[in-house]
Amino acid sequence: MIVVKKTDEMKKKVLAWKKKGKTIGFVPTMGFLHKGHISLIKKARRENDIVAVSIFVNPIQFLPGEDFASYPRDFENDEKVCEREKIDVIFSPAATGIYPEGFSTFVEEKELSLPLCGRNRPGHFRGVTTVVLKLFNIIRPDTAYFGQKDAQQSLVIKKMVKDLDIPVKVKIVPTVRERDGLAMSSRNKYLSGEEREKAPAIYKSLKMAGEMVLKGERNAFKIKKRVEKTINSATGGEIDYIEIVCPVSLEALKRIESGALIAVAVKIGNARLIDNIIVKTPGKGIRKGKS
Ligand code: AMP
Repeated sequence: MIVVKKTDEMKKKVLAWKKKGKTIGFVPTMGFLHKGHISLIKKARRENDIVAVSIFVNPIQFLPGEDFASYPRDFENDEKVCEREKIDVIFSPAATGIYPEGFSTFVEEKELSLPLCGRNRPGHFRGVTTVVLKLFNIIRPDTAYFGQKDAQQSLVIKKMVKDLDIPVKVKIVPTVRERDGLAMSSRNKYLSGEEREKAPAIYKSLKMAGEMVLKGERNAFKIKKRVEKTINSATGGEIDYIEIVCPVSLEALKRIESGALIAVAVKIGNARLIDNIIVKTPGKGIRKGKS
């Protein structure tokens, strides 16, 4: 395994691999690797000749006042994890390597980026799409792997790839959870002991919502209210959003007629946690659009 910090060096390595006809699998991350990341890495390892993992805490996807400075970092451990998973290269550029002085070009997806996390984090997805496109251009992967945990991010990336004809296949990997259901996240590190005990209620409330749908409840407002009540009473956290949307278009649903993405963002202490599930009504597939 090699660690590459310079963009030009990374491009040279990629060129050499391409010349040999190797397939490249790519897992973009912000580091502080956990089992969620590892599941993406393992899939990439199984499916490609070369696996590249980027570790880059991308400054432009954080809004002023967000946790860019305090975002957890542990490069030494990340290196060990990547070594253990037999990846070929960690690409870990400096911020100036990605955004040199005078950098002035940004990529913006203007539909799927707007609801959910886009509402209270304006500019966040613009930062994500910009860095991911840059990383795609540097690593030139055949396949890139993203997590369902960040459902909206995965959809935005897929849309960017489609809209801009980027020659990469995007694969979405299921959410990996702690034993008690809490979605694994680098930001779980911010939780105090007490907050950590309360946090699994987020997933519990989503599962409860899924059960309501299975039992025949179709009214999105009623389901949202139940989720809200559960999260409020069990976590005392500050709810950013609870949304029930079309899993393809992210348009808000009033009624769940086929499938839905139920997505939440909750601030517990210093941690803004997001999670989601996809629910399907019995016997129906998921169609695009309002139902
Ligand atoms: P991050 O380092 O948080 O930016 O995440 C890097 C990639 O790992 C993104 O595609 C995330 O969606 C994915 N990821 C993070 N947490 C999980 C998880 N618990 N399960 C599956 N994928 C995850």
